[in-house]
Amino acid sequence: MSAPEPGEPSWGRSHALAIDHALAVAYPEAWCELRYSNPYELLVATILSAQCTDARVNQVTPALFARYPDPATLAAADPKELEELIRPTGFFRNKARALVGMARAIAERFAGRVPATMEELTSLPGVGRKTANVILGTAFGIAAGIVVDTHVARLSRRLGLTRQSDPEGIEGDLQELFPPSSWILLAHRLIIHGRRVCTARRPACDSCPLSHLCPRLGVAEATIPPTSAGRRRR
Ligand code: SF4
Repeated sequence: MSAPEPGEPSWGRSHALAIDHALAVAYPEAWCELRYSNPYELLVATILSAQCTDARVNQVTPALFARYPDPATLAAADPKELEELIRPTGFFRNKARALVGMARAIAERFAGRVPATMEELTSLPGVGRKTANVILGTAFGIAAGIVVDTHVARLSRRLGLTRQSDPEGIEGDLQELFPPSSWILLAHRLIIHGRRVCTARRPACDSCPLSHLCPRLGVAEATIPPTSAGRRRR
């Protein structure tokens, strides 16, 4: 078995499902590490998590949610006060603008409720497809797509699940390989694996629970059953 050719997303669905199973065994508790109690809070925390660790976002959000408990209060926020509250998360001026814009749009167009469709979410200022997938999957339990952040992108390529580099291309390949029932948890598990084991600079291959499935280590052909199903088109 050789590495996937250009244009082929991966070794196939059997390989993908074996990875899905190994991730489920290794990280049965995997879930979003941002703290939130409703879709609005998760949306705010996700916007703040750009270029910032979840741990740092979690340090900031308790005071933020107390000061702005809903989109209406955030929409009316004093920019300077908001910027000071979120300063530790970095890029705080841009994030403050995005938060207020998002909150105003929700207050004005969606009666103060976070919408639950991809189209509506991505119509909000500061909300792209990745953020929308986080909200739909984690807050609403809707598997509209797969979250592709830096960890999911890196691991998908390392594990031979895609040869693409743009997030939407990677997401499309993953959607073809994995059943929708696994999309939400797959992303959470890949993100945890990327943080704990398969880091960008120093992947811990010696202790990796996926090493028997990883092309980077020259996976044995016998460990991967032949691809059984044609690709599902969406
Ligand atoms: S074997 Fe190494 S490269 Fe492959 S998934 Fe594990 S840590 Fe990452």
